Amino acid sequence: TIILGIESSCDETGIGIVRLESDGSLTLLADEVASSVEQHARFGGVVPEVASRAHLEALVPSVTRAFATAELELSDVDAIAVTCGPGLAGALLVGVSAAKAYSAALGVPLYGANHLPGHVAADTLEHGPLPAPCLALLVSGGHTQLLRVDDLATKITEVGSTIDDAAGEAYDKVARILGLPYPGGPPIDKAARRGNPDAIRFPRGLTGPRDAPYDFSFSGLKTAVARWVETHDDLPVDDVAASFQEAVADVLTAKAVRAATELGIGTMVVSGGVAANSRLSALARERCAEAGIELRVPKPRLCTDNGAMIAALGAHLVAAGVSPSALDLSASPGLPVSIVSV
Ligand code: ATP
Ligand code: MG
Ligand code: FE
Repeated sequence: TIILGIESSCDETGIGIVRLESDGSLTLLADEVASSVEQHARFGGVVPEVASRAHLEALVPSVTRAFATAELELSDVDAIAVTCGPGLAGALLVGVSAAKAYSAALGVPLYGANHLPGHVAADTLEHGPLPAPCLALLVSGGHTQLLRVDDLATKITEVGSTIDDAAGEAYDKVARILGLPYPGGPPIDKAARRGNPDAIRFPRGLTGPRDAPYDFSFSGLKTAVARWVETHDDLPVDDVAASFQEAVADVLTAKAVRAATELGIGTMVVSGGVAANSRLSALARERCAEAGIELRVPKPRLCTDNGAMIAALGAHLVAAGVSPSALDLSASPGLPVSIVSV
């Protein structure tokens, strides 16, 4: 069974092709990503109109390239999955409209898929089926959540989430404060390797005894970095980056391990763009090993936005026998994580 996945929720146009094998395993056949990130860099964030236009230009050529790579024809497709939310309305609509057109033209079922479980599904392309239940730490540009995943296709429950900024958003804002380019994750990760993570003790949000144990807060950390920078004459960028990164990785891994332990869950998946962070995965590995939790982190290319993860989630929906979407499927910019398919 061949699944075409289409992703256009933010600034990456992603086209993935996955084969669902008869034993339920997935084979990744193509993963094309066209990013408009450079067009947004000078604005320090994604400009929705620019992103929509870029998706419109990139989508069909990306589909053509993906089928060339997979050595398949469009007529080989058995089902289509498309991100219908959450994300930017105009950007989502480009992918949803294209997916509906392909679905109608090819006469194959269409699945409106949630981008957030998609990030978790990315891991199954690399490490195989997820045991149930597992705990997902979803850390991306717009979301930071702890999820109990009983079934990737049908049952996801939010255990905790950020009450303000997402982890990726904190990276992007702190990069701006430090004069590093957008998006901030990769340059901070790089600078931090040269810096001392113990140089400055930045606050760990919501870690007091009366705080919600599984929720996160990163806006105080961002403000603390801004204040530190304002009140010091020299700016040791590498040390500030390393100390900031340590605070983020510390609080994310501590809370995720605590949740897995207290909920009795033996497997943790870290996914989303920030899962590409070298310190986060290293610290998660250390702490999960200590706690006896099996850790799964997809490779960086599968952590950031891509179409393969949507094709993977589509394959899980097909395998689980979930009903396809109606042809009036539309974009759902605020889609909650618990609604895996629309
Ligand atoms: P969402 O998935 O919540 O809708 P999004 O799709 O925009 O948001 P992703 O593409 O999953 O987010 O992730 C992008 C974020 O990941 C950006 O904030 C970026 O700075 C961050 N990021 C990417 N690489 C790294 C890294 N190596 N270290 C830390 N953060 C990173
Ligand atoms: Mg992006
Ligand atoms: Fe994403």
